[in-house]
Amino acid sequence: MTAHQHQGQSPSSAADQDARGVVIIGGGQAGLQAAASLRSEGFTGQVTIVAEEPGLPYQRPPLSKDYLKARPTDGTDGSGSTSASPLPLRGEAFFADHAITLRTGTAAVAVDRSSKTVSLADGTVLAYDSLIFATGARNRELPTPGIELPGIHGLRTLEDAEQLGRALDSAKNVVVVGAGFIGLEVATAALARGCQVTVLEFAPRPMGRALTPLLGDWFAGAHRHLGIDLRLNEGIASFEAGDDGRVAFAVSTTGDRYPADLVVAGVGVQPNDQLAAEAGLETANGIVVDAHLRTTDPDVFAVGDCANFPSVHFGGPFRLESVQNATDQARHVAGVILGADAPYADLPWFWSTQGPFRLQMANIVRADDETAVVGDPDPAHPKFSVFCFRDGILAAVESVNQPSDHLSARKILAAGLEITREEALSEGFSLREAYKERTQPAAVV
Ligand SMILES: Cc1cc2nc3c(=O)[nH]c(=O)nc-3n(C[C@H](O)[C@H](O)[C@H](O)COP(=O)(O)OP(=O)(O)OC[C@H]3O[C@@H](n4cnc5c(N)ncnc54)[C@H](O)[C@@H]3O)c2cc1C
Repeated sequence: MTAHQHQGQSPSSAADQDARGVVIIGGGQAGLQAAASLRSEGFTGQVTIVAEEPGLPYQRPPLSKDYLKARPTDGTDGSGSTSASPLPLRGEAFFADHAITLRTGTAAVAVDRSSKTVSLADGTVLAYDSLIFATGARNRELPTPGIELPGIHGLRTLEDAEQLGRALDSAKNVVVVGAGFIGLEVATAALARGCQVTVLEFAPRPMGRALTPLLGDWFAGAHRHLGIDLRLNEGIASFEAGDDGRVAFAVSTTGDRYPADLVVAGVGVQPNDQLAAEAGLETANGIVVDAHLRTTDPDVFAVGDCANFPSVHFGGPFRLESVQNATDQARHVAGVILGADAPYADLPWFWSTQGPFRLQMANIVRADDETAVVGDPDPAHPKFSVFCFRDGILAAVESVNQPSDHLSARKILAAGLEITREEALSEGFSLREAYKERTQPAAVV
């Protein structure tokens, strides 16, 4: 699908100015959910999504997982479809059925808060009563010499994934820069496709910003067990070209040279907050919002990867990059626009699939959490959870191939149920049973 409008609305500026309602900038997970929730909660005004990318809003998580698996080389998605969005969040009919105008392939380029209008790159001017920034994030760029060489990829969009998928068809030696979630997902996908894979990470453990040190160390061993050459405390220094002008070596900060016919840089993202800053809204590592996800302008909100919000679970300003955060914040803002008054307090949770390891996290871990492993951490057939305690009470749970622990932990933590360290580590304890016991009404004797 190319740049166009998916549901009838006049493109003329005058007509658009007359029709106020909610304008959502960004057609990703958060933008789509905000529109869907406005409708499901009964909002009857205009809802318009402005989406810079072409095609229908799509899911990003599969891009570094199933989507990179071997597939036909004819440019299709393997299902015979040649759609530009093989992973749509909603089908095309959804937008017409819910009277949501989706303007794809055009960016919002300016917001004028005094006239309450948004200007688009194609010249359209949209008027709003409420405006939602759902602009997401973009990949951080490495300042490394040689970064411009052909054969070096990033991964954020479907287009990036298509290019990377094609490059993997012929790659032999893959170097991944950054042992974060996306880097390790790509590393395991490349390994499954028969490549030699080296991962360079300047920090002492993988996924260090998000996991407990205990689980980070476990993943380091587990990925090496799979056959990934994981180099910790070793950053990227430069890339060198071969005779064909393409990348041929990655040189690390220790001076080691790793053969690389394909490089993937997964070194984190930066929030897309420039447009909000230009509109005079406060930004600081994202668009700053209050507990209701409102910016410094009461008619303007920000949700998802681009929003820096006061997290009750983190205990301060926080920016989260996850599907849960994007969708829950979007639902919340739809409610606020319709008059709800509760602060945003949904429990954060996350997942990542790295080859045979299904990682799931309930709540944000803290560096000083007390940790205990429950289950079998053998990397050959792991099935375990890391219980994290604060002041002796269960506060977060990380799970590997243990989905029932994860689901129960989410329910327990979201409900604010207290489980002591002593109880959680007692013989025969189960999170599922503990949740049931605490929530089922006591039997009448
Ligand atoms: C490869 C990959 C794998 C991931 N895996 C997981 C996972 O396993 N689990 C998990 O929880 N999360 C995962 N994530 C993170 C998750 O996808 C994001 O947190 C989520 O997509 C954020 O949604 P969003 O709507 O805030 O931002 P985005 O999905 O980034 O959408 C924002 C959209 O806004 C558009 N935009 C920006 N500026 C403008 C403008 N001025 N005008 C118009 N449009 C604009 C952008 O082009 C983009 O399409 C993954 C992310 C990636 C990239």
